[in-house]
Amino acid sequence: MKLQADRIGPLDMFKIGVGPSSSHTVGPMMAALKFRALLTEKILPANPSATQLRVEVELYGSLSATGEGHGTGGAVCAGLKGLHPRFSETDDIWAVMPHLCNFPTLELSSSVVTFNPTQHIHWLGWTMSGRPLPHPNTIRFRLFDGEKMLVEQTILSVGGGFIEEIDADDNRINDNGVADQLQLPYPFNTADEFLAICVSSGKNPWDLIIANQEALGLSEADLRKQLDAVLDTMEDCIERGTRTEGILPGGLNVRRRACELYKRLPTDMNLRAGNDLRPSVYAIAVNEENAAGGRVVTAPTNGSSGLIPAVWRTLREQHNLSRETLQNGLIVASVVGALVKTHASISGAEVGCQGEVGTSCAMAAAGAVSMLGGNINQVEQAAEIGIEHHLGMTCDPIKGLVQIPCIERNAMGAVKALNAAALSLASDGSHLISLDRVLQVMKETGLDMNQKYKETATGGLALG
Ligand code: SF4
Repeated sequence: MKLQADRIGPLDMFKIGVGPSSSHTVGPMMAALKFRALLTEKILPANPSATQLRVEVELYGSLSATGEGHGTGGAVCAGLKGLHPRFSETDDIWAVMPHLCNFPTLELSSSVVTFNPTQHIHWLGWTMSGRPLPHPNTIRFRLFDGEKMLVEQTILSVGGGFIEEIDADDNRINDNGVADQLQLPYPFNTADEFLAICVSSGKNPWDLIIANQEALGLSEADLRKQLDAVLDTMEDCIERGTRTEGILPGGLNVRRRACELYKRLPTDMNLRAGNDLRPSVYAIAVNEENAAGGRVVTAPTNGSSGLIPAVWRTLREQHNLSRETLQNGLIVASVVGALVKTHASISGAEVGCQGEVGTSCAMAAAGAVSMLGGNINQVEQAAEIGIEHHLGMTCDPIKGLVQIPCIERNAMGAVKALNAAALSLASDGSHLISLDRVLQVMKETGLDMNQKYKETATGGLALG
């Protein structure tokens, strides 16, 4: 069934995980966990006499082009070992690949399976079995017994840590499953539909989403508890980022800046040239943590993980916002992310950085307006402004590392989000271009964008 925006909840958009990339780290790790579960639950029990077991992993397209800098190999290794991006310690995750290089075996059920990352991870191109890829981020896992292949599974990492499987008939299967069949109290699939429901019901936008989530089996208490964990993780990330100095990993020799800037903020008037530098410093802090492979929240992706924490922290400090208001802001922001995911894309490999930092800016702007008491038309206007002024923005990270331009780009996006929120709060919410229209343009722009500007490290700034 085609993905519906109302099925994508706040906890889908805000996933606690590990840096540096949601599509190239978290997604591949979840894909490897899925393949591991297939092996342990079905394939290995059905083949008890297999003795020469070996896993091979094929990374295609953007995963291959920038996967080394994005930690894709390490993420796949960790997933095959059974580690989870949220529940495993980040140091443990990154220790798996070096360990497997020295001791190349996986213990799955009662079977011993050979897997040596240097031999059995294959970095491949833009076709698979002679055909175009189903998605720029495609992974194929295979299990062999000697020369005989026992099973293969093709999984797509479609951005923001979301994965989809390709079935035997080449259909893309998302993980929603049963949820697709349920009737929701407030169904919607477009921004216009969501606006209409807000107006006709007279309810707050976050209350509609809470009701939908309850129908999908997640109580308000559980949702708020988990959003609290998301907020805590975002705050922790800012704290770590503003305390840590040094050089980021990956070989670019990028020096961490957030710590020094944060120390200078209270007294250095040069940092106040016309604006409040706090959102920029907070965004840089989070994205430096992300670049270092630390614990971050997809918002909606890891590459764009700094923008929303920066805006929420700044507004909390400026307006003394309550915890519930901050949660409600995340819920409203998630609606915008869900609409982008459904009608355009949140994957840099699919539509460029407009899908990552652009989406995050729109989410942050919408959430900011709702937290500051704006009406639903102003919320939609803020989201529209946030995306509109990122249309066409390319993804060209140097060396495939989520550092340049990504870290600073979050700072710029945070400032734009606050400006978009202020502009819409200063108006009555009426505007010419709808959010739905901008998303349509975003998708078309992404399709027209040359592939070298879509997370391949072959164009733009990536060339140095
Ligand atoms: S340039 Fe943007 S889309 Fe590309 S990796 Fe960086 S943050 Fe993600």
